[in-house]
Amino acid sequence: MTFELADRVQSVPPSGIRRFFEIAEERDDVISLGVGEPDFATPWAARDAAITSLEQGKTSYTANRGKRELREAISDYVADRFDLGYDPDEEIIATAGASEAVDLAFRALVNPGDTVAIAQPSYISYEPGVTFAGGEVLPVPTTEENDFRLTVDAIEQAGASEADLLVYCYPNNPTGAIMRESDLEPIAEFVREHDLTVLADEIYAELTYDGHTHTSIATLPGMRERTIVFNGFSKAHAMTGLRLGYALGPAEVIGAMNKIHQYTMLSAPTTAQYAALEALESCENDVQEMVAEYDRRRKFILSRFREIGMDVFDAKGAFYCFPEVPEGWTAEEFAQDVLTEQGVAVVPGDVFGAGGEGHLRVSYATGLEDIREALTRLEAFLADHE
Ligand code: PMP
Repeated sequence: MTFELADRVQSVPPSGIRRFFEIAEERDDVISLGVGEPDFATPWAARDAAITSLEQGKTSYTANRGKRELREAISDYVADRFDLGYDPDEEIIATAGASEAVDLAFRALVNPGDTVAIAQPSYISYEPGVTFAGGEVLPVPTTEENDFRLTVDAIEQAGASEADLLVYCYPNNPTGAIMRESDLEPIAEFVREHDLTVLADEIYAELTYDGHTHTSIATLPGMRERTIVFNGFSKAHAMTGLRLGYALGPAEVIGAMNKIHQYTMLSAPTTAQYAALEALESCENDVQEMVAEYDRRRKFILSRFREIGMDVFDAKGAFYCFPEVPEGWTAEEFAQDVLTEQGVAVVPGDVFGAGGEGHLRVSYATGLEDIREALTRLEAFLADHE
């Protein structure tokens, strides 16, 4: 029997990242720098809170938007860390990962035919999310010359001035780029002028280096009322499998997102909500320790890439770096060959959309010893092909 699958599903290609993982999983000598998740275990206090909640039988649904206590803790946390002010009752929703929050926002805001501008290279879920919601994707390429920051020029050149929504992710997956306040100001001005709504994926907000701290566009004048912010516990708190994220935004939009959420999800995973509450209450030091370790790895990997003769963008955030593919290969070919010949898995930059070609996404959410060995193998690979 064959099914007539929905066109919008068929039109989305399978994930380019998964394909590489499948090859990597077939061999046992592969070092993967392809992963997009922390190698750390969730801080113990958060795991313990989850265990205790299970022991106490706290396994029911929660309020649709998440436990009020959690929303209050999120409200305090984002105020404290990022100077953001959101009302726990009206302007915050806890979701099954930031992924669900992104999907809800598209479904709440996109009408068929609406244009959604996406700053790229970027996390791979936005495009399919827009397509599933019936919108049209308009890629806005960023360039290495501009440190992979989004600029007004890039938006204008992509013809995105008339778009309905603008989506971006900073600190960025896959480049490790960040946007400073001075980079956000012209974007904010443009967005206000052209009456755009911004979806800001800030899931890597805690992971910034070299003295940089994260600024949310929602803190700029006139932007709070036209921005939806996504964040979650997967990255900074090493909680990917617990599936907990959240969205912050104007009551009307969060309310609309909750309407979809209450019919499709009911509430975010309850056990994860207890873990997240504890993570916010007592795991600040664990986060800082993980950030310090990512930073050590970042410095090491950037300097090693340069040492072996590969140019690499000076990543300042998240846990990725984005080296250039040496001449003679496409990113896809390089990733394929280095996996086959040396057992090192990296992701070709093209997977992340416009602007990613000719680059590789290399994750340092892997122990330093593995990173060291992977770079030694890369060096051997380059020597073999000189
Ligand atoms: N946004 C970005 C930029 C990401 O890199 C990821 C995970 N790779 C997500 C969202 C999804 O996060 P979550 O686990 O909270 O769904």
